[in-house]
Amino acid sequence: MENSKELRTWLDDMALPHPLVIAGPCSAETEEQVLRIAHELKDTDVNYYRAGIWKPRTRPGNFEGVGAIGLKWLKKVKEETGLKTATEVANRTHVDLALEHDVDLLWIGARSTVSPFIIQEIADALEGTDKIVLVKNPVNPDLSLWLGAVERLHKAGIKKLGVIHRGFSTYEKTKYRNIPEWQLAIELQTRFPDLPLINDPSHITGKRDMIFDVSQTALDLNFDGLMIETHHDPDNAWSDAAQQVTPQKLVQIMKDLRIRKETDEETEYKNSLSNCRAQIDILDNQLIETLGKRMKVADQIGELKKQRNVAVLQTNRWNAILGKMILEGESKGLSEEFVLKMFKAIHQESINHQEKIVNAAKAEVVQK
Ligand code: PEP
Ligand code: MN
Repeated sequence: MENSKELRTWLDDMALPHPLVIAGPCSAETEEQVLRIAHELKDTDVNYYRAGIWKPRTRPGNFEGVGAIGLKWLKKVKEETGLKTATEVANRTHVDLALEHDVDLLWIGARSTVSPFIIQEIADALEGTDKIVLVKNPVNPDLSLWLGAVERLHKAGIKKLGVIHRGFSTYEKTKYRNIPEWQLAIELQTRFPDLPLINDPSHITGKRDMIFDVSQTALDLNFDGLMIETHHDPDNAWSDAAQQVTPQKLVQIMKDLRIRKETDEETEYKNSLSNCRAQIDILDNQLIETLGKRMKVADQIGELKKQRNVAVLQTNRWNAILGKMILEGESKGLSEEFVLKMFKAIHQESINHQEKIVNAAKAEVVQK
């Protein structure tokens, strides 16, 4: 697949004055719920009304979606509110039923994108239609798998394509439900600048309070739109309760977001600048996180040294690290002076951490 303007014609043709907005509940629960939320979103910036009909749940036994009956409710949404509709499809039957009920936009979920078999089945079922299809990133941070899914759809003749960045699962405890790994989305954007890129802050954060900040970062990184889970009674939603916002809150978020329009040279300069700044912010956060992790390991070393009564400062080891890092730094365009200064500071902090542990042990001995 090559980058081409054609990839984004469907979005450009909408000529939106703001990012594309896809909003609605995680799951369709009842006809009343689906219609109520749709009516509350009717006169807002929302472009597509989303509702999951078939829900991919990580563990069995949770609410797995209302099934095909929900498609009738989505049809009613369109008739009563004029909102276009969107749902997730994960196999041929879902596609056939969604087409039958005239759903306007289909998305492929993160758990499906990991499986080329499923993607091929969906692509075959969609051949010859002109639906908009958005591919969520796979649950694991693998750009080829993500792009591979887009390519399969493109090969099946689907022209109205786009991708949704919903974050990646990780074994580590983080403040996110799915870590954003922004650099992957940035790389995808660099390779396919014309492929519409939508952010899903709901599944990235897992918490409604964090949705605004992640949305703002996405817009600063030139994302084309947002998918935000919206429910009239989020706390009592049948799935993903913690991350859904009310329609009123969604309107407020849209109002507060700094939305950039690329118009003149001055704006273009400002856009590029805020794009770079957003990237710097992400990298700085990663630096702090990595340094925090490094000091945790230093603490473990402190424990080991304490048990063996070994001196904290090990000059040989330290010189070896420095020599290696100066060379690594050079290959990345960093001056020796800078690498030295930085590692001296890191080393000092490491020693402080270890000394704290060793001294705590001495204090224990004295007390005894
Ligand atoms: C969803 O959008 O409700 C959903 C299940 O998303 P994901 O595939 O990103 O987990
Ligand atoms: Mn959800």
